[in-house]
Amino acid sequence: MILEAISKNFFLYLSNNKVLDRFAKRFGTSFGADKIVGGETFSQAIPIIKQLNHDGLQVTVDHLGEFVTSEAEAKDRANECVDTIRLIDKHQLGSEVSLKLTSLGLDISQDLVMENMERILTEAESKGITVTIDMEDSSRCGSTLEIYKALKEKHKNLGTVIQSYLYRSDEDLDDLNSYNPYLRLVKGAYKESGKVAFVEKEMVDSNLKRLIKKNLENGHYTAVASHDDAMIEYTKQLEDELKLSRNQFEFQMLYGMRNETQKQLVKEGYTVRVYLPYGEDWYGYFMRRLAERPANIAFAIKGIFSK
Ligand SMILES: Cc1cc2nc3c(=O)[nH]c(=O)nc-3n(C[C@H](O)[C@H](O)[C@H](O)COP(=O)(O)OP(=O)(O)OC[C@H]3O[C@@H](n4cnc5c(N)ncnc54)[C@H](O)[C@@H]3O)c2cc1C
Repeated sequence: MILEAISKNFFLYLSNNKVLDRFAKRFGTSFGADKIVGGETFSQAIPIIKQLNHDGLQVTVDHLGEFVTSEAEAKDRANECVDTIRLIDKHQLGSEVSLKLTSLGLDISQDLVMENMERILTEAESKGITVTIDMEDSSRCGSTLEIYKALKEKHKNLGTVIQSYLYRSDEDLDDLNSYNPYLRLVKGAYKESGKVAFVEKEMVDSNLKRLIKKNLENGHYTAVASHDDAMIEYTKQLEDELKLSRNQFEFQMLYGMRNETQKQLVKEGYTVRVYLPYGEDWYGYFMRRLAERPANIAFAIKGIFSK
């Protein structure tokens, strides 16, 4: 338990290390990261998406990169999203799009994010593609949800994420209720203090169950995004208990995680969506996954030494 906490903190610390980030960019994803990242460009991700679709899996793609600090870079990111949406449509891929508001200028200005999001959502709407705003660390949760609500008034094809480790999430769910939200429910991936988030894993888990049940009872589309069998079994149990249609929920997992479970759920007739990140900025994402599950380190090390 102590070792697990040390290793988690260590990898979360490394995820913010700029020197290692530059080093990683130079060497590329083939050193283990390609098991969980779809390549450095969207073109590299296309054959992977086609294969996943062929296996009965839906996809949501995420162009990696966060904490953009210049307006020009934020606009470039928005352009990349628009191009990705066009390519999804052109290649008729079974894929949605996920994005982070800090990559579109959240830390620069609200007008900039709104302008970028409007462009992305208008393009996505014209192609019938849903966009989900990922949730970042707790300091950005309030502003992200305010932007979500403002955009959702105009755009149906928009989802966001609620993290069960935050104390505020139950109230956020109530607040979003009147927006008919498309919500991805997760445990939460960032390092948060006990002032804002549950520290005990049991509390995070039981809160996720509570949020899943509440969102489904409220009648909203729910993406249960977890690799945890307990969450998957609980959702199946709710399907019986609440007599849910399978059009009201889906399971989501990260690319490269629990591949057999993903396929088994598809076999059982569930919708399963794979979150496929791609892009040059894969380093922080890769380190957060190592922090979550030290077992992932095994394939990273194998990747490095098999070169
Ligand atoms: C599709 C998707 C989108 C996400 N989006 C966001 C987001 O926007 N914001 C955010 O903060 N977080 C996001 N996350 C991350 C999420 O918050 C968690 O950090 C992450 O999913 C780990 O929690 P878990 O529920 O999967 O299982 P954990 O609590 O990490 O693990 C519980 C149990 O599940 C099993 N398990 C877990 N992983 C594996 C594995 N790889 N192989 C085998 N068994 C495993 C093990 O038995 C483990 O003990 C997302 C996750 C997914 C799947």
